[in-house]
Amino acid sequence: MTLVVRAPQAWLGPGRLVRDAEIVCEGGEIVAAGPRGSRGSRSAPAGEPEVLEIDGFVMPAAADRHVHIALSDPASVLLRGVTAVRDLAWPPERIFPLADASELPTYTGPLVRAAGPMLTGPGGYPTQDGWAPPGTGRELRGPDDARAVVKELASLGAAAIKVSLNAEAGPTPSDGELAAICEVAHELDLPVTAHAQGRGEVERALGAGVDELAHTPWTERLSDDVVQTAAKRMRIVSTLDILSRGRDTPEIRIALDNLRRFHAAGGAVIYGTDLGNGAIPPGIHVREALLLAEAGLEFEEVLEAMVRAPLEPGAPADLLAFARSPLDDLGALDDLRLVVRAGAVVLLR
Ligand SMILES: [Zn+2]
Repeated sequence: MTLVVRAPQAWLGPGRLVRDAEIVCEGGEIVAAGPRGSRGSRSAPAGEPEVLEIDGFVMPAAADRHVHIALSDPASVLLRGVTAVRDLAWPPERIFPLADASELPTYTGPLVRAAGPMLTGPGGYPTQDGWAPPGTGRELRGPDDARAVVKELASLGAAAIKVSLNAEAGPTPSDGELAAICEVAHELDLPVTAHAQGRGEVERALGAGVDELAHTPWTERLSDDVVQTAAKRMRIVSTLDILSRGRDTPEIRIALDNLRRFHAAGGAVIYGTDLGNGAIPPGIHVREALLLAEAGLEFEEVLEAMVRAPLEPGAPADLLAFARSPLDDLGALDDLRLVVRAGAVVLLR
């Protein structure tokens, strides 16, 4: 099945704004993307393609890299423009089967990738928390146990290893356990992402070789030195609106200050909402995008932080269309006209 999407304007990825665009999808992948008519005859689709002429702005679909999908409605997530999510803490016996099921065309939700449980200290976060079913936190019993757990999660299909460095809510993994986690995860090519909360926890994560912070740090203003080092070694998943929810709070001020300096120092910022944490709406969360802009990202950088992959041959055929360009006004992200996941039209209006 071939799908051809044509639109007066498309943003294919960083620096690639195209007028009179044509995107061709086949077998769940992009086979051509660019100005209309630029596609060679070799890639001309066999048979009758489905052609959609969209009066709007086309771009790659969004990915939310921090969710708890079971606390939300997957169908709404997809219908509102997010075609891939990364689940950052849920019991492994529930989330990995869901991740497998999400690959099937019959699944009415986004593609799910998952970390499985959050690795923590005995009784540590989130083992005592109401939102987290038993098994959402995995209590470690020494560096050898930490190594075994990372290998086990990798064999189950983990997309990342999540560590709880929430010192405000209980014991965290020891330095030895943390080092063992990073060592084995990196051997297995898995990134380590940390929930760092409390004084000194970001520094601990940096020292151990953690690759990513699962939230913008909000409990303390990071020193410029820490920000500079973090910008070279880590990326940050934004999750800004859980600190604000549309209001001005001390937490959002600290987080914006940290993220602004991190971004200015060249650090990689990626979009994530912590969907499932309170009243975060499913799908594209416009307020999160606006907060990224407040942290100093240009509108195009906001889109870059949000998308799953640029529209180019070989990329997943996941794309969106809006009535107007979010490059002029991020509020346009609220006016979806088309959602395509794996080459299949999910929403068209
Ligand atoms: Zn979370």
